[in-house]
Amino acid sequence: GDFPIETDTIVIGAGPGGYVAAIRAAQLGQKVTIVERGTLGGVCLNVGCIPSKALIAAGHRYESATHSSDIGINAENVTVDFSKVQEWKAGVVKKLTGGVEGLLKGNKVNIVRGEAYFVDANTLRVMDENSAQTYTFNNAIIATGSRPIELPAFKYSKRVLDSTGALALKEIPESIVVIGGGYIGTELGGAYASFGTKVTILEGADEILNGFEKQMSSLVKRNLKKKGAEIVTKALAKGVQESGDSVKVTYEVKGEEKTVEADYVFVMVGRRPNTDELGLEQVGIELTDRGIVKVDKQCRTNIGNIYAIGDIVPGPPLAHKASYEGKIAAEAIAGHPAEIDYLAIPAVVFSDPELASVGYTEAQAKEEGIEVIAAKFPFAANGRALALNQTDGFMKLVTRKEDGLVIGAQIAGPSASDMIAELGLAIETGMTAEDLAMTIHAHPTLGEITMEAAEVAIGSPIHIV
Ligand code: FAD
Repeated sequence: GDFPIETDTIVIGAGPGGYVAAIRAAQLGQKVTIVERGTLGGVCLNVGCIPSKALIAAGHRYESATHSSDIGINAENVTVDFSKVQEWKAGVVKKLTGGVEGLLKGNKVNIVRGEAYFVDANTLRVMDENSAQTYTFNNAIIATGSRPIELPAFKYSKRVLDSTGALALKEIPESIVVIGGGYIGTELGGAYASFGTKVTILEGADEILNGFEKQMSSLVKRNLKKKGAEIVTKALAKGVQESGDSVKVTYEVKGEEKTVEADYVFVMVGRRPNTDELGLEQVGIELTDRGIVKVDKQCRTNIGNIYAIGDIVPGPPLAHKASYEGKIAAEAIAGHPAEIDYLAIPAVVFSDPELASVGYTEAQAKEEGIEVIAAKFPFAANGRALALNQTDGFMKLVTRKEDGLVIGAQIAGPSASDMIAELGLAIETGMTAEDLAMTIHAHPTLGEITMEAAEVAIGSPIHIV
């Protein structure tokens, strides 16, 4: 018989949004059930952030082994055992997903395997292969994430791959075509380029990594080209012809039709929210025309006891944003006055060099009529960057002119992904450029770049004139 199981809060989806929400709700005294149809950890841990960073790291190791003769390191016969790379990557993922399971259990969250479907605003059906179970709840947090968009002319197959397929290749391909020069296409295309794959990126817009300032994306472009990649912008991908072991991609650029052949084509043109097979219409949850769930500042949908977080709600589709919203939703359910504020959410691309941004860019500030000082400091003027032989890049610190308040920062350079954290903290805590400049940073470190950019902002830099 199917007797309903009662729970306080039910979370649907165990990605970085859902599992964090579940843990925080349990910490706040709720009886929590989490439903997952796939693997704990969601896209991020299984087929997103983590495996992609592992692949990128392996590519960098190979590259630095083979490209260090300028600092006197000559390595011969460096080889890649790609199945070993894949095995190591899988091990990293397994460790983390196992960790998530341990954390959920440690917080007494009830883990349920299966596909969830709303019956009404207090009832969920969960189905797996051979059974179905009804759950009743007081509050629900929907965290079902997103999936790759499929282009009609590029149906996924053995040689037409989405990001999951691209991460799972068994051998290093000789050549690939990447459709889409966003961050996923640039990261994965770049990873394979590091291993020696001939990469062609087809991007529809004027530039790859369109959301970033041109001065930043052009550094990435230059390094991709150094790795032998070809980048075609304003390119319209039209179709693909598959033969046994290769693909021929047709695209149009400046009104001219062209073709490029490769072992595989990666289609990385964006993701769509998993909101279409959940029964949301049964409950009357409002979506935008693109299937995004409308939420308020506490991640609450138009139905008072149902919340939504992560890739299915507005804002940048990033793991740390999903987790942040998960905590807010759980706290809101517990009656705390928590509210989302996206200003200090960083965005990072694990390209070469890394790009990172938090808060306002100079252009965004100007659009809003905020008078700013945009202070730049180059990696080339930093001792640590020189000693690392990684001098490409810069930091740009955006401060409000009237009072020096830090409102944004952009970094292109090695370790930008880690350096951006300090700037997020500065924004979150209301620091001024002077505060950053007065903070003693260890020498020699890349962190000193932050201190020096702040000194530029207040007009007294030591290491540039
Ligand atoms: P997801 O992680 O998508 O998890 C949703 C979960 O819900 C899934 O496990 C799914 O199985 C489950 N689910 C869906 N429907 C149901 C249902 N009806 N019943 C039960 N379960 C269901 N972000 C970063 O911040 N940094 C990065 O470096 C980064 N790299 C990425 C690289 C790649 C290749 C990709 C594809 C993405 C990357 N992202 C990165 C984005 C990041 O993975 C997502 O933003 C993040 O996973 C979103 O979290 P989420 O909790 O909203 O959803």
